[in-house]
Amino acid sequence: MTINATVKEAGFRPASRISSIGVSEILKIGARAAAMKREGKPVIILGAGEPDFDTPDHVKQAASDAIHRGETKYTALDGTPELKKAIREKFQRENGLAYELDEITVATGAKQILFNAMMASLDPGDEVVIPTPYWTSYSDIVQICEGKPILIACDASSGFRLTAQKLEAAITPRTRWVLLNSPSNPSGAAYSAADYRPLLDVLLKHPHVWLLVDDMYEHIVYDAFRFVTPARLEPGLKDRTLTVNGVSKAYAMTGWRIGYAGGPRALIKAMAVVQSQATSCPSSVSQAASVAALNGPQDFLKERTESFQRRRNLVVNGLNAIEGLDCRVPEGAFYTFSGCAGVLGRVTPSGKRIESDTDFCAYLLEDSHVAVVPGSAFGLSPYFRISYATSEAELKEALERISAACKRLS
Ligand code: PMP
Repeated sequence: MTINATVKEAGFRPASRISSIGVSEILKIGARAAAMKREGKPVIILGAGEPDFDTPDHVKQAASDAIHRGETKYTALDGTPELKKAIREKFQRENGLAYELDEITVATGAKQILFNAMMASLDPGDEVVIPTPYWTSYSDIVQICEGKPILIACDASSGFRLTAQKLEAAITPRTRWVLLNSPSNPSGAAYSAADYRPLLDVLLKHPHVWLLVDDMYEHIVYDAFRFVTPARLEPGLKDRTLTVNGVSKAYAMTGWRIGYAGGPRALIKAMAVVQSQATSCPSSVSQAASVAALNGPQDFLKERTESFQRRRNLVVNGLNAIEGLDCRVPEGAFYTFSGCAGVLGRVTPSGKRIESDTDFCAYLLEDSHVAVVPGSAFGLSPYFRISYATSEAELKEALERISAACKRLS
């Protein structure tokens, strides 16, 4: 259901720029699961996109110290000098990228970074190439900014990755951006240097196309996977690449709302214009906390990633043991994106035929009290996403329930 249909009866006419945007499937499932929980049903929610760890103590302490030092006022528009310096060092240390302070911007979450970038660059009808499955906000943000999302299906057969051929075919004179996310929410798929190379070669041939890379999950990668970022791999693209990152996932700081990016000065400046009339600046206290996160000890990241890897293995093995499901092993993030083509056409004990991934997820929720999100919410079916940022005990119980639910289908 679109915003238009939802709010029309209230006598409100939404702006056309938001009228085609649907109410998030994830939020709808979350609301249904929460309502079931209130009714006393033992619902397991595997929908949340945030780590179950707590923000590290030294980060909390830095925030408290900042409050007591009186850092409770507006800050510089797109980030304090201290935080920009910490980000500059992070980019250099971890990514081999050299950005000057005026090539760095800070916003209220990576989501606002994306919003600022699209708002600052898109004219109505400008095209943004987005491989699917995608993080749902990508296409919605592009639409709010009156751009046109060009969705390119990248299914499990290509490792949920965009190929050079598909990218080449998608580029038109109206293309402004290509948006890549590695490791990906929702698929967990990541691009190695070899995976990126052919895509970067295509972009080198099209100087009017800019690249936005969302490296939000860079620290959560498994096995021998080596994370790389395109501006480092291809210096020839650095002057039209926006490298987006944030503290939400790596440091379990989703509620602090700090995201950042490095990119060409002119774009960064234009993004600050948008931000100046949206929020004035990110939270002063959260910025001080983020300085501590980026400059402080990093060893706990490895420990946390090991814990995520154990859970990834548990979930992937559990899903692949269930007839009808087919789960590719993700390289990173904390999601699995499992195929469910094998259960389509089957019938539930109450006589309902499962026609789509949305039907399958509704069945799992109503029958087995497990909340997962259908691939349709991320632009690719028939799949479903599990967020495994929860306890192993809960994951085991959920897998047993999913297995039993599939066995009850005829
Ligand atoms: N990018 C991706 C791929 C994400 O999954 C998320 C959060 N779900 C974000 C960006 C935004 O993160 P935040 O706004 O918390 O920095």
